[in-house]
Amino acid sequence: MIKKYYLLSPGPTPIPDKVLSVAAEPIIHHRTPEFSNIFMEVTEGIKTVFETKEDVFILTSSGTGAMETAVVNTLSPGDKVIIINGGKFGERWGNICKAYGVVYKDIILEWGADFTKGQLADELKANPDVKAVFATLSETSSGAIYDIKGFGEVVSGTDAILVVDGISGVGAAPCPMDEWKVDVMVTGSQKSFMIPPGLAYIAFSQKAWKMVETSKLPKFYFDAKKAKKNLEKKTTPWTPAISLIIQQKKALEIIKGMGLPKLFEHHRILGEATRAGVKAARLELLAVNPGNILTAVKVPAGVDGVKLVKTMQSKYMAYIAGAQDPNKGKFFRIAHLGYMGGFDVITALSALEMTLLDLGYAFEPGAAVKAAQTVLKENWQ
Ligand SMILES: *Cc1c(COP(=O)(O)O)cnc(C)c1O
Repeated sequence: MIKKYYLLSPGPTPIPDKVLSVAAEPIIHHRTPEFSNIFMEVTEGIKTVFETKEDVFILTSSGTGAMETAVVNTLSPGDKVIIINGGKFGERWGNICKAYGVVYKDIILEWGADFTKGQLADELKANPDVKAVFATLSETSSGAIYDIKGFGEVVSGTDAILVVDGISGVGAAPCPMDEWKVDVMVTGSQKSFMIPPGLAYIAFSQKAWKMVETSKLPKFYFDAKKAKKNLEKKTTPWTPAISLIIQQKKALEIIKGMGLPKLFEHHRILGEATRAGVKAARLELLAVNPGNILTAVKVPAGVDGVKLVKTMQSKYMAYIAGAQDPNKGKFFRIAHLGYMGGFDVITALSALEMTLLDLGYAFEPGAAVKAAQTVLKENWQ
């Protein structure tokens, strides 16, 4: 049998053919008006996706580089912050803060648990001296989505800034930066932006930029002031990932062509179809408040979770994601973000059903695919 490769992971995500092919075009020089035009068009396009009037800086790094940029450009040694830590990526905010000597209160949630704006308000009342609150829109390790709008309402009433890891979430779920009072927004290119890994995007509110001006943490490559000075000259401080920016221009044509409301609706339908499918196979979701970006599903009793993911990947070539440490084997993650369509959900569920049969799990074969088809059919447009 010809085994086709199906990428169903929450990053990297599949890339449209017409976006892939522009990477093969001859490289152009970045200090030219030709490149500057492309660079500014992409910068404007990302601003539209962020729903902000602030500058967006394009960094050559994976998403974590933008997270580090957020920390080192706003804070000073000894500053105190609050971290909403709902999983692997919330935890990363703490690891970055630790590396730079920032004092942080880590609010460790059970993976998949929710955190309300009321709880955040209480934390801020108890810790009135914090300079920033670090949150995650879509906690990719658990599939949970968080109430960034509510967090923005709470944090904007204080002197602290709200820093949001929008990697995987922005471009798939609503998170209008200005309207929801997000002070620093970061994303990465390989999630919902439909291009390969290698670019990260960051924007600062006016309130955050005031902190940038006095921030004393060490920085060089990720210095936001250098990025701003260069953006005014329609360029970057360092050699940008030229080919990726050209690919992003092409992918933005698809994103802008669809428009954000339709893109969010598309993700809602894929999320609903996936959830309906796994529930029909008598499986449980991990997240209390699951996002439409990826679906984390608990491994049922009697099934080896590591083997499940391994079988999906090596036997059926359906590259879903397993659970990260310390929850390895406890759940698995089916992604439906970026350039994924309705039939990608069907592929994932179909491979999942075949895998569950292989592993001896008792359920009604075909139920998951059928339930997802019903949702897709009802919403197809
Ligand atoms: C993927 C991801 C990251 C990490 O990004 P890298 O590109 O691997 O550096 C951070 N946060 C979230 C929520 C993510 O999904």
